[in-house]
Order: sequence, then structure tokens, then C-alpha cells
Amino acid sequence: MNNTRTVLEIKNVSKSFQKGHKHTQCVLDNINLDVRENEIVALLGRSGSGKSTLLRMIAGLVDSSFGSIVCNDQPVTGPCPDTSMVFQTFALFPWLTVFGNVSFGLQALGLPANEVNRRTVDMIDLIGLSGYAEAYPKELSGGMRQRIGFARALAVEPQLLLLDEPFSALDIYTGHKLRQDLLELWEKHYIKTKSMILVTHDIEEAVMLCNRVLLLTGSPGTLTDEFSIDIPRKIRTQENTKALVDT
Ligand code: ADP
Ligand code: MG
Repeated sequence: MNNTRTVLEIKNVSKSFQKGHKHTQCVLDNINLDVRENEIVALLGRSGSGKSTLLRMIAGLVDSSFGSIVCNDQPVTGPCPDTSMVFQTFALFPWLTVFGNVSFGLQALGLPANEVNRRTVDMIDLIGLSGYAEAYPKELSGGMRQRIGFARALAVEPQLLLLDEPFSALDIYTGHKLRQDLLELWEKHYIKTKSMILVTHDIEEAVMLCNRVLLLTGSPGTLTDEFSIDIPRKIRTQENTKALVDT
């Protein structure tokens, strides 16, 4: 794992929010993190510990107060196509169809129309929504909406996918099915993006999907590398991961 390329490098990053005229709230303190190619990292921590803020800073949606974030050898100074994010509450564009949502990032990249078209149709098929290209998000179930969320994020083939509790707004069955479908697409190499950070409260999900588990604790939050998981994802089962979940 150590000779693989570094996709994300976070050095001494802190974040404070202005609260009113006089107060600032320090949310994250001196965060250091490297994510390498092919790593899937779980990020755990209680509500309010700064997990979403950290992902938003990596995505370039929020500025950091101190420190540096480098993704794919470029300093992160704003939204960039090397990262995409999937949100807990989907955050789809309600005024766009499924096709419009999934093609959004490809159009922003300025690709030729026929390529945008081909990649969008392929991604909609891959995620299991063929036949729904012209539907609007409000016409679809939560599970289908989050499929669009994943398709929109993956269509641009980002170096790093940022997943902010992507299954937690779905019922258990729907969330589990989407997780299994995505896992299968990754194992079959249909999904090109290999590196991910997954925010979750579900330790079993973390152990099933990830190579490394990080914990954000304290106020302001600091990051600890909890453990690595050596069992290849393909052969992980409820049985051989149970010991890890129980510890
Ligand atoms: P988590 O995702 O771990 O639940 P968040 O990153 O959403 O935590 O929030 C961490 C802290 O930062 C919270 O106290 C929250 O109120 C604060 N916070 C997050 N975003 C903003 C913002 N845009 N402005 C002010 N405070 C914020
Ligand atoms: Mg959050």
C-alpha cells in the first residue's frame, strides 16, 4: 500500500467559524491526513464533531482557516473535478432531470456534447436507473434519488469520492441494497474512482467497505488513525469482520 500514489494530503488544517461579532468556534484542530490511491477510509465521530466540515473543505466548498489541502498534486482553493461529494440528503438539483443532474459535472468540464451524452447514459444504466433519464428527482424514491447522487458524483471520474453518510437517510433495506450494488460495481471495476472517504456512524459498514478507520474526537475535533483492515473487501463476511466490530 505504501508505494501507491498519494491522492490527498492534509497538513495542519484547522477550521474556525465566526459566531456573531465577537466569538469564533474552533471546530477542527490541526488535522493531518494522507489518503493513497485505492484506499477507502472511514471517518467516524459523534454528531457535531466536524466530519461534514472536513469533507466540505476537501471538496473546496468551505475554506480552511489554517493549513494546506492538496488533492491530486493541486492545492485545493475551490471546487475541483478531482473530488466529488455525495450528501446525506442527496442535494440534487430539483429543476433538472436525472439526465441533467448526472451530466452536470461533465458539462462543467466542457466535454463535447456527444461525450457528455454517452457518459451520462452509461452512468445512468450502471446505477440502475435506465428508463428514468427524463424523470425529475421529486418523482423518484429516496433510494433512487441517492442513486442519482452517486451517479452525478461518479460521472466525472473523480480521484477521490467524498461520502457524507450517504446511506443514513434511507431505510435499512434500501441503504443495504445500494451499498451492495455499489460494492459489486467497484469489485467488477465498472467504477473508475478508487479512493474514498466515507463518513458513517455504522461501524459494521465501515469495516465492510473500508481499509482504514479514522476517529474524529474532542472539541475542537482532532483525528486519530484507529486501525487498518487487512482482509480484502471481496472476502469480507459478517463472520470474519464481526471480531473487529466487537472490539
Ligand atoms: P458533523 O458532520 O460531524 O455532525 P459538522 O461539520 O456539520 O459536524 O459541524 C461541526 C460544527 O461546526 C458544529 O458545531 C456546527 O454548528 C459548526 N458549523 C458547521 N458548518 C457551519 C457554518 N457554515 N457556519 C457556522 N458553524 C458551522
Ligand atoms: Mg455531518
